[in-house]
Amino acid sequence: MRSELQQELNIFRETVVRFIENEIAPYYEEWENNKIVPKSVWHKMGEEGLLCCDIPEEYGGFGVSVDFNFLVTEELARAGFFALSCNVLVHADIAAHYILNLGTEEQKQKYLPNMVSGHCIGAICMTEPSAGSDLQGMKTTATKVNSGWSISGSKTFITNGQNASIYIVAAKTNLAVTGSKGTSLFLVDGDSEGFSRGQNLHKIGQQAADTSELFFDNIMVAQNDLLGELDKGFLGLMHELPRERLSCAAVGVAHAEGALSLALEYIKERYAFGQPIAKLQSIRHKIAEMKSQTELHRIMIEHYKTLLTEKKLTTEQASIAKFSACEMECKVIDDALQMFGGYGYMKEYPISRFYVDARVQRIYGGTSEIMKEIIGKSVIGRF
Ligand SMILES: Cc1cc2nc3c(=O)[nH]c(=O)nc-3n(C[C@H](O)[C@H](O)[C@H](O)COP(=O)(O)OP(=O)(O)OC[C@H]3O[C@@H](n4cnc5c(N)ncnc54)[C@H](O)[C@@H]3O)c2cc1C
Repeated sequence: MRSELQQELNIFRETVVRFIENEIAPYYEEWENNKIVPKSVWHKMGEEGLLCCDIPEEYGGFGVSVDFNFLVTEELARAGFFALSCNVLVHADIAAHYILNLGTEEQKQKYLPNMVSGHCIGAICMTEPSAGSDLQGMKTTATKVNSGWSISGSKTFITNGQNASIYIVAAKTNLAVTGSKGTSLFLVDGDSEGFSRGQNLHKIGQQAADTSELFFDNIMVAQNDLLGELDKGFLGLMHELPRERLSCAAVGVAHAEGALSLALEYIKERYAFGQPIAKLQSIRHKIAEMKSQTELHRIMIEHYKTLLTEKKLTTEQASIAKFSACEMECKVIDDALQMFGGYGYMKEYPISRFYVDARVQRIYGGTSEIMKEIIGKSVIGRF
């Protein structure tokens, strides 16, 4: 069974790699300069069947295993188009699955087919200027009015913030309770009155990703735009976190594998002291460390993908994957860049893009410190 799946994945990989070579690589620098990937590229990805592959057929998807979804973002990461990889990840692995798992039939029918086709790009809006790791400090509110809810507040650092047309927004719905209670999720259309997209933020890496501020000025949403249960938004969030964190970890491993490949090519071509630097023992040993780390993490990711498919992946395991893979990714990419010497610091060498793009992996989706808190508490247990 597994080998049948592997064969199908290999065929799909060829399609994805060809798409990346023809439709992404030639234009990527232009998108980096524009700080956004054009919507037409999303449409093409949809036409090729590269978005939300595991969404069930009744909602426009292919109903295939999660491995197909991961393959797309991993290949984008491996090729060094990491910003687009993360954009697609937020759309296909996070936003679409919030709607699939928490949405009503009407919500699923309304949004999912258009998300599969790339005509409706999704974003997930949790972080606020004063609430990141500590989401309980959220200030955005949704107040009950006759016909629905009125949302006021702002969000920041939102991936797909400019391109999205459906925003999953977390807002306080009950100010009388504290802690994780009293927060709900809403589906907000990008053309809602009172909604505005702020700056496409200037980042040190992931230049092609549109990461934005968003503002909500008393925007009206209908009662049936509530996603999941009232006041139980954090439960919905917790439910989706294992997949979100594993997908961050998976692209992190593929990104490190891509950097290792670049380094392997370079060290055979670059001469120092009359020989290719690949012949230097210190380089060989460093390559051995990098390969051991990527290999170990690859095995973990594949095992955890199986657990995710079987709905057995725990919060602790997903946090281990996110923490360990993203730390490893940054280390391996740093080591790879070092092998390029001064050229590694030059923008025309793709390894420099790997370096700046990777850094945020230890920050978003739960920082490494927060991951360690979760893992430590879970391992030690109550006593
Ligand atoms: C490029 C990019 C894309 C993003 N995309 C999205 C998105 O699509 N949607 C979204 O909602 N958010 C998104 N984010 C936001 C991201 O999830 C937050 O930046 C992240 O959760 C950290 O929050 P913060 O920036 O407020 O840092 P803070 O929470 O202020 O943390 C600052 C430092 O304190 C540490 N710290 C905080 N609490 C603890 C603790 N209890 N124990 C130990 N250390 C702690 C942190 O680890 C960190 O080192 C994105 C961010 C970036 C940069």
